[in-house]
Amino acid sequence: MFDYHVHTSFSADSKLPMEQACQAAVDKGVTEIAFTEHLDYYYPNCPLTFEFDYDEYACTVDEMRDRFGGRLYILKAVEIGLHSSVKEKNEQFVRGHQFDFIIGSVHIADDLDLHNGDYFKGKSLDEALELYFETVYYCVQDNPFFHVLGHLDLIKRYVHYLQADPACIDWRRYDQLIGETLKQLIKTGRGIEVNMSGYRYKLNCTLPELPLIRLYRQLGGEIITVGSDAHHQAHIAHHFERAYNLLEEAGFKYVTVYREGQPHFVPISKMGKLTEGGRDW
Ligand SMILES: [Zn+2]
Ligand SMILES: [Zn+2]
Repeated sequence: MFDYHVHTSFSADSKLPMEQACQAAVDKGVTEIAFTEHLDYYYPNCPLTFEFDYDEYACTVDEMRDRFGGRLYILKAVEIGLHSSVKEKNEQFVRGHQFDFIIGSVHIADDLDLHNGDYFKGKSLDEALELYFETVYYCVQDNPFFHVLGHLDLIKRYVHYLQADPACIDWRRYDQLIGETLKQLIKTGRGIEVNMSGYRYKLNCTLPELPLIRLYRQLGGEIITVGSDAHHQAHIAHHFERAYNLLEEAGFKYVTVYREGQPHFVPISKMGKLTEGGRDW
């Protein structure tokens, strides 16, 4: 299994030491992990600072590579919070440092935080969803420097602020808008992730779910990673069998890994073998 979205104590909202994350990953049969620490230069109305010291981070990853070499392949990675006001700063950060893998994520829309609910104040459900998916589209179009778009429908985790049940929303209303985003990603050699955080947010589903994963595949999308978005060791590789099954159901035969910023494809059918004794590719 490959967990391509994990936060450690280099992220402001995680206390997980990287060594513990590596050990937990190995114990669970993960053979490849990307430490995608938060970098959100624009994050309004929040006491946390989502930035980290790259040199310290890279040095810790190198130490872990020495310690876990042969058992765990570790990627230097980052989850960049996309926002129009910090576009240049974001780009400078990723161009100025060596990363194996970069996730681009939309945590803020309409200049407001989804997580704390500010975004939803004064909006109808339809307004909130439409503006969110529009924001994702423009962020994808304006920020070409990332590899994979994080949690495409993150807003699903927060519609409870409008007393909405994600299971009862007609998400197909936004298919055309989301389809444009997916086409833009495909055209520019980028991909999406299947994010498993929905399970710990009690949504009992992936972000995105099967219909959008299938739509991405039908539009010609091939690059797809799976990430737990773990901030705690218990969540590493959480429900990954479900993710791989879902990918196969959507028509994927491969999962994507990155080497020096380039995508490579590993058959999903090999996932089981990979947990038994080293990588085979
Ligand atoms: Zn995120
Ligand atoms: Zn994350």
